[in-house]
Amino acid sequence: MSENQIPAGTVLRDQFGRGIEYLRISVTDRCNFRCVYCMPQEGLPWLPKAEILRYEEITEIVRQLAPLGLRRVRITGGEPTIRPQLESLIAQLRATPQVEDIALSTNGAKLPVMAPGLKAAGLDRVNISADSLRPERIVAIARRDLGFDPVSAFDAAIAAGLGPVKVNVVVMRGINDDEVADFARLTLERDLHVRFIELMPVGDMRELTFDHVVPSTEILDRIASLGALAADAGPSRGNGPAAYYRLAGAAGTIGVITPMSHTYCGSCNRVRLTADGRLRTCLYGDHEVMLREPLRRGEALGPLFRQALAEKPREHDLLQLKVGGLRALSQVGG
Ligand code: SAM
Ligand code: SF4
Repeated sequence: MSENQIPAGTVLRDQFGRGIEYLRISVTDRCNFRCVYCMPQEGLPWLPKAEILRYEEITEIVRQLAPLGLRRVRITGGEPTIRPQLESLIAQLRATPQVEDIALSTNGAKLPVMAPGLKAAGLDRVNISADSLRPERIVAIARRDLGFDPVSAFDAAIAAGLGPVKVNVVVMRGINDDEVADFARLTLERDLHVRFIELMPVGDMRELTFDHVVPSTEILDRIASLGALAADAGPSRGNGPAAYYRLAGAAGTIGVITPMSHTYCGSCNRVRLTADGRLRTCLYGDHEVMLREPLRRGEALGPLFRQALAEKPREHDLLQLKVGGLRALSQVGG
């Protein structure tokens, strides 16, 4: 039996027995924002165009990994919506029979215009990053003024049927931690799943320190001002590492993602594909296997995928790092 003729239902496991069925695909390292926790204001040394995977190449990688157990993909970046014709990639991925779920991570700035077309191309759902609901603060955190109104992006995604719509809020002490209750309140009326994320010491972060990290216990305390929180199963799909809660009678849910105060590596089911075609088995390490060159030479990728999984680390070591000790999430497909 060749590498690509694995029986249906096969789950590919890493060296610690974790089934790997989820691939995060970065389509660009560039962005129309410069979030304080992610990118320096002047940008980063961008990848040369020739090194970036074409949509057909990304699709071929997914086609080769799908028979090995890949079932879910997420398109991310950088900011994926700034890469032209993103809809054509989504349509190509949709045509891969084993892929059951296609999600997109975006800063939301282009969603009010793009949401219906993304849905029509075959996108299932979106995660939207939003760190403030206040116009001046949005500009200060994103360090770009695109006139972006996050609530219009949330509503466009819900109206286009791109649910469950998840909102990711990176909580920073003294910067946006006074808006935790405002974000939580959005779940009362809207079918939104607002997840509060602990700030991580990755990338540039010249303006941030460990003092800006707000632990999830403190985040939940701030929401308690709105009423009791009941533990909840969360949205129907792709719950990953978040723990979910619901305010009484709320349409949506509230989640916390705690990379700093707890690790969730034991149940990690994901690997990442960088925009230049490297497979990364852990967000936080340097473990990468180059797929682009073998792919361009026409070689089968199955053996390389197996090799990468055999080397997937047991867990990350975030707490041992100094601020800025790792590449930005925009560079590794966060
Ligand atoms: N541009 C898209 C977006 O912002 O959603 C996708 C890529 S972005 C790198 C993916 C996620 O990583 C975003 O939710 C962002 O908030 C998060 N992120 C980036 N740097 C982070 C950091 N230092 N700590 C916590 N989350 C971070
Ligand atoms: Fe861009 Fe997303 Fe990074 Fe913000 S978090 S700079 S939107 S890639």
